[in-house]
Amino acid sequence: MRLTRFFLPVLRETPEEARIVSHQLMLRAGMVKQASAGIYSWLPLGYRVLKKIEQIVREEQNRAGAIEVLMPTIQSADLWRQSGRYDDYGKEMLRIKDRHDRDMLYGPTNEELITEIFRDGVKSYKDLPRNLYHIQWKFRDEVRPRFGVMRGREFLMKDAYSFDLTPEESRKSYNRMFVSYLRTFARLGLRSIPMAADTGPIGGDLSHEFIILAETGESQVYCHTDLIETAVPGRDVDFDGDLEPIIKQWTSKYAATDEKHDAARFAADVPADKQVSARGIEVGHIFHFGTKYSEPMGCKVQGPDGKLVAVQMGSYGVGVSRLVGAVIEASHDEAGCVWPVPVAPFEVGLVNLKAGDKDTDAVSGAIYEKLNNAGIDVLYDDTDERAGAKFATMDLIGLPYQIVVGPRGAKSGEVEIKTRKSGAKESLPTDAGIAKLIDLVKKGRDLA
Ligand code: ATP
Ligand code: MG
Repeated sequence: MRLTRFFLPVLRETPEEARIVSHQLMLRAGMVKQASAGIYSWLPLGYRVLKKIEQIVREEQNRAGAIEVLMPTIQSADLWRQSGRYDDYGKEMLRIKDRHDRDMLYGPTNEELITEIFRDGVKSYKDLPRNLYHIQWKFRDEVRPRFGVMRGREFLMKDAYSFDLTPEESRKSYNRMFVSYLRTFARLGLRSIPMAADTGPIGGDLSHEFIILAETGESQVYCHTDLIETAVPGRDVDFDGDLEPIIKQWTSKYAATDEKHDAARFAADVPADKQVSARGIEVGHIFHFGTKYSEPMGCKVQGPDGKLVAVQMGSYGVGVSRLVGAVIEASHDEAGCVWPVPVAPFEVGLVNLKAGDKDTDAVSGAIYEKLNNAGIDVLYDDTDERAGAKFATMDLIGLPYQIVVGPRGAKSGEVEIKTRKSGAKESLPTDAGIAKLIDLVKKGRDLA
């Protein structure tokens, strides 16, 4: 993409309304624009990141055996009356009337709708287990929308729903999502901490929040250093096999907790040099809730003995749009964003220091073509801005690698490669520079 043809409305000043760094940088880098409180338009740069995150989430859901669907954003209130949640949900739910005066709502979540779909499409235990997910916009009229996309009113969520015959089988479905989440967040360049969470009125012990450690996080968490060091399951993990040993490794008794739970016992039991106390951002939440919806909504299947049984369900959310902010919170510096390669809006920024100059234009154009042909996402700054402004913008938008072409280098056949994260710079013959970049980008794209 040539910058002269792109839409990148960067701001030099930090907008006053933005209190945390991810919100500030997303506005400054022209990634989003607020449309109204807690509601954002995604501008090209931000949208590219959102799409990359969404795709990684999708790939890891698919790998774990979940099947993608797409449910609508607008739902009928009647469905929510069946589960009893229409009255319980409160003011976070945006209620709408259609022209026939029917009660509708903008979905804050989809348990009811998916239960109805599954109920009407499944008959026998032979159709189990299944896990259906979608990646769709949600609306929750949060009391205090804040921190930009981190706590919006309209936000993109991946929500998956598992259906099983027995609680034991349901536990296996839960485990698959648990492991899938560890991999998903790791692929985004994040270290996630699974923390035992409240299951609400249903009880039981099967709920975990996945937390990213960051100073601006809304929750206080305590975790064992092991959780920060344990290796994440590789791509060869067998989702049809026994995942219990992996789950055990990540959920030992005092692995992670918060004020509401075992904070005091954590402090007493975990050796002092193994304790981490930090702020965290919730990026995912998984939940086993048994027959809470299947029972009242009549989502039953015929078991092997011929009797009808309500299916066991779980739900599994990932805050896809929140993750854009969370990645920035976890990876930035004074100059701007520092994108991990897998989610970077472009993988390489090509800077032509003297656009309009015959030599730099020719060299930059050739590099642009070679990188594109190698399948690298390149943003080519072919504008006639001053060098200082170009560097500031590149650092602000935080592309992992920069390749800089100046008039002197264009003559002598050298380019400069800069790694955004370390700031390290290296001058190389042009072709060697291109080859090195391609190699670095390809290595950075994925986990083992
Ligand atoms: P929170 O405690 O942060 O309000 P929640 O428990 O209401 O989250 P869930 O209903 O489990 O969240 O939703 C699944 C995921 O969706 C959350 O883990 C979070 O990442 C994301 N999410 C929830 N609310 C918002 C929001 N208002 N803005 C952006 N993302 C959100
Ligand atoms: Mg909430």
